[in-house]
Amino acid sequence: MADTSYLSWPFFEAHHRQLAQRLRAAGDTIADDAKGSDEYTIASKLVRKLAEHGLLSAAVPTLENTAAAGLDVRSICLSREHLAYHSAMADFVFAMQGLGSGPISLFGTPAQQQEYLPRVANGESIAAFAISEAEAGSDVASIACSAEKRGGDYILNGSKHWISNAGIAGFYVVFARTGEAAGAKGLSAFIVDAHSKGLATERIDILSPHPLGRLVFENCKVPARNLLGNPGEGFKIAMATLDVFRSSVGAAALGFARRALDEACQHAKARKLFGQNLADFQITRERIADMALEVDASALLVYRAAWVKDSGAERVTKEAAMAKLYATEHAQLIIDRAMQMLGGAGLVAESVLERLYRDIRPLRIYEGASEVQKLIIAGQILGK
Ligand SMILES: Cc1cc2nc3c(=O)[nH]c(=O)nc-3n(C[C@H](O)[C@H](O)[C@H](O)COP(=O)(O)OP(=O)(O)OC[C@H]3O[C@@H](n4cnc5c(N)ncnc54)[C@H](O)[C@@H]3O)c2cc1C
Repeated sequence: MADTSYLSWPFFEAHHRQLAQRLRAAGDTIADDAKGSDEYTIASKLVRKLAEHGLLSAAVPTLENTAAAGLDVRSICLSREHLAYHSAMADFVFAMQGLGSGPISLFGTPAQQQEYLPRVANGESIAAFAISEAEAGSDVASIACSAEKRGGDYILNGSKHWISNAGIAGFYVVFARTGEAAGAKGLSAFIVDAHSKGLATERIDILSPHPLGRLVFENCKVPARNLLGNPGEGFKIAMATLDVFRSSVGAAALGFARRALDEACQHAKARKLFGQNLADFQITRERIADMALEVDASALLVYRAAWVKDSGAERVTKEAAMAKLYATEHAQLIIDRAMQMLGGAGLVAESVLERLYRDIRPLRIYEGASEVQKLIIAGQILGK
């Protein structure tokens, strides 16, 4: 990463700078580990590799590492930014180990934490977070998948759509309707082991490599001890988890944007045309200035949200929404400008820019589309 000067910003402490150094040192090896054609195999391999590098502990607090301190959002964001710079798949794997186990880190009983978190942190088990449905994406409160209490179990019926790690996860945190009240207040969260009878998965392929699919529950029995929090707290658990991880989507976008800017600068300095370097033209300079400005603005918003959360704020809904919205939308623009500067070379299949162009797109949709982030920000400012 060409510009690391932002690490001297007062948002960071010494352990963040050390983490950034470790991430930089591991970057090229991780990029090599991420090579291959099947995203399911690569993701499974990368989980173990990230664990070997000791990089999953920032996403998953365990008794051995930071349970007492809890989740440190600046460490999560720094990890995602650096991993995304080198490999979208490495970023994805890290993010999902965190998001998928986040409800357990934040709301699990000591027994649930002990059973699941160490295996997620050491790469033995892959985590997944299942809230979206075909008819309930942005509108989470309309979830239809049901969980009915029968004796010492809950029986799940229905389906989940667009679930990252479907098919390779060891367990899914599933949000289902238990019916304590209408809408959002009638949802609960469950840890569902992947081998549970009555659970099937189907694969969905999208424009950038991403293990993704559908979960189908048919009378799937889940022990009541796998309930997270209390019945009816599912929405609260989901929103609190997203509050921690949402700014990190902006951090991943920032990593993609920094990579695009570095690629563009390198190319502009080397490419000769009309008797001079591409970098000497004023149009190029204006473009580079705009990109650098937007990268810094994204970084400020991302690390402000992370720092506010780490400083003890219970919720950072507005700050996290601003960080995600700005960083993802501008990363898309930055990558597009970089691609334009590379000319035909930017379009070559599997080149860095071509991959970034595809990899950034889902970030403007998942964990709340940009339009939803705008509604959240306006809601926070105007009052609900
Ligand atoms: C790569 C990828 C990975 C994902 N991983 C997961 C996962 O692991 N777990 C999980 O539970 N879900 C996951 N999702 C689902 C994701 O969170 C949803 O796709 C997202 O919330 C949008 O829901 P939707 O696709 O149903 O779109 P819809 O809700 O139908 O929205 C479609 C579009 O409508 C617009 N829109 C929405 N609301 C408004 C509004 N109020 N006003 C104006 N316009 C609006 C937005 O442009 C939005 O993109 C993933 C999605 C993708 C693409």
